[in-house]
Amino acid sequence: MKTLVLTGIRKFEMVKRPMPILKNPDDVLIRIKTVGVCGSDIHYFTQGRIGTQVVEFPFAVGHECSGIIEEVGSSVTRVKPGDLVAVDPSIHCGTCDQCLAGRPHTCRKNRFLGCPGQLDGCLTEYIVMPEFTCFTLSPKFNATTAALIEPLTIGTYSVEMAQTDFRNKTVGIFGSGPIGLSVLMVLKTLGTGQILCFEPLDYRRKKALGLGASSVFNPFETSPEEVTLAIEPLLLDVVFDCTGEQQAIDDAVKIIKPGGKLILVGIPPEGKYLINMDILRRNEISIHNVRRQNHCVEKSIQLVEEGLPVDQMVTHHFAPEKTQQAFEMVSGYQDGVIKAMIDFS
Ligand SMILES: [Zn+2]
Ligand SMILES: [Zn+2]
Repeated sequence: MKTLVLTGIRKFEMVKRPMPILKNPDDVLIRIKTVGVCGSDIHYFTQGRIGTQVVEFPFAVGHECSGIIEEVGSSVTRVKPGDLVAVDPSIHCGTCDQCLAGRPHTCRKNRFLGCPGQLDGCLTEYIVMPEFTCFTLSPKFNATTAALIEPLTIGTYSVEMAQTDFRNKTVGIFGSGPIGLSVLMVLKTLGTGQILCFEPLDYRRKKALGLGASSVFNPFETSPEEVTLAIEPLLLDVVFDCTGEQQAIDDAVKIIKPGGKLILVGIPPEGKYLINMDILRRNEISIHNVRRQNHCVEKSIQLVEEGLPVDQMVTHHFAPEKTQQAFEMVSGYQDGVIKAMIDFS
């Protein structure tokens, strides 16, 4: 089968690999339909690492996928050949302290698609996964919306982590890429009051407005602190950072009200932030870190069922042979790209 592998920094190659086979009774063989290009894949593409997670080349990336079930193991009951499924890229052990505490996403033996040292990615024609990672969908879904469930789960979980009744609350979001937009779309379903989006790219601000942001600002041209004070002098209940940028963190802590929350979703490229503890401490602002998602796949599928327009963030489709171009485009923010999808069949 055809598989895309990273063979070096900024270098994809299409290679032939043997078909994967079912090993356990609960395994399923999935024929990949569509794969979304994620910001974390871009970190591997441009830097060969995320923090301490370092790629050994050649390496197959990709974790946001949909596919068709081709073959099932003897104990499989929830899915059958021919089903279109959204795939949760995370395989947990089910027996460690984290799994037993209801935290499979921080499982001690977690293995994640397209994560160095764990599992090869899904930029390939077929993968084998355990049944529990596959979620069947209503006919409302197509291969693209099914593959978008994974990034949407991050938005759903980030909003959940804020543990806030968002009705009539004023909220800020830094970054209007796929994750920032996912947070925005989920907040819109909860009757959130005003949502202020901060994003330097003009076309992404437009998209955020189209998806229901109350107001959008370029944080490099307008001071987030000044515009927030003008709109909400008491400042914001919750701010989501979906950029991983130091500047956004500096701006965010200045616009959160006392007792408010900062939700860290973005990945800092160097693995560190400098945080203004003086502001945080005086205002008793809590920081919540988001590690991927926990138990949010079914909730996200339900949100799309109810009309959340997840496909609105897709701007480009590529054939597998054009994966190199897709990654160049996404990493360079070219051609108005927000979410690029790679379609296998
Ligand atoms: Zn992702
Ligand atoms: Zn575990």
